[in-house]
Amino acid sequence: MRCIFLGPPGVGKGTQAEFVAREFGVPKLSTGDLLRDSVQKKTTLGLEAKGFMDRGELVPDEVVIGLVREKLRSAECQKGFLLDGFPRTVPQADQLELLLQSSGNSLDRVIYFTLPKDEIVKRISGRRSCPRCKAVYHIQAIPPKKNGICDVCETELIQRNDDKPETIESRLSVYDEQTAPLIEYYKGKNVLSELDGSGPVDDVQRRLLALLS
Ligand code: ADP
Ligand code: AMP
Repeated sequence: MRCIFLGPPGVGKGTQAEFVAREFGVPKLSTGDLLRDSVQKKTTLGLEAKGFMDRGELVPDEVVIGLVREKLRSAECQKGFLLDGFPRTVPQADQLELLLQSSGNSLDRVIYFTLPKDEIVKRISGRRSCPRCKAVYHIQAIPPKKNGICDVCETELIQRNDDKPETIESRLSVYDEQTAPLIEYYKGKNVLSELDGSGPVDDVQRRLLALLS
């Protein structure tokens, strides 16, 4: 499986990617998680990326492409992968295609998640994340068992800097301007499937499995 999850921030890509990666036995590559990891560890790349991320802007293409190139060449990605949050611009998509071509591979499917904007805003506003194991919750829809504490590793949950109300609108505009053109891009390559991201996690999961099988 070589698959991309495409769609606006907060639509539920990461939540479903966790499940699909387990189900299909392929690694999930989330550029957001990889970048946040670099920020946490204060690596050179992390220090470069932090400002862009806090403002809700995209990190420059060459930085993100470098990160993905390294991962895709690793042994664990040879049997397939699930890309969550990459590509986010046309140049990133072009570079991904070149990378795949160079190893004689191609994309199997791009799943395009949709959700009305008011629902997206509710999902992002209520998101709480575990800074340690990266588990994701929602204060109303998917709360942890103990208030504010990760079920998996008992770390205190946080609200991401870029999930605060003042950043949400700008992230959605960035998506419309820079990422949404990928819908037509992948339609043109006959690999795009649209997924209704509304409703409970299990319902979305069922619709997603039907598309992937
Ligand atoms: P993305 O990876 O697309 O940014 P996430 O998977 O992190 O989105 O989901 C955004 C927020 O919505 C999280 O708080 C998550 O727990 C919650 N969420 C995900 N799927 C659903 C769903 N089907 N119904 C309600 N909330 C959901
Ligand atoms: P996400 O976790 O996917 O919502 O990503 C969080 C933030 O990381 C984004 O708002 C960007 O600043 C940055 N980011 C993640 N993936 C990319 C990408 N493919 N290209 C550029 N920036 C990215």
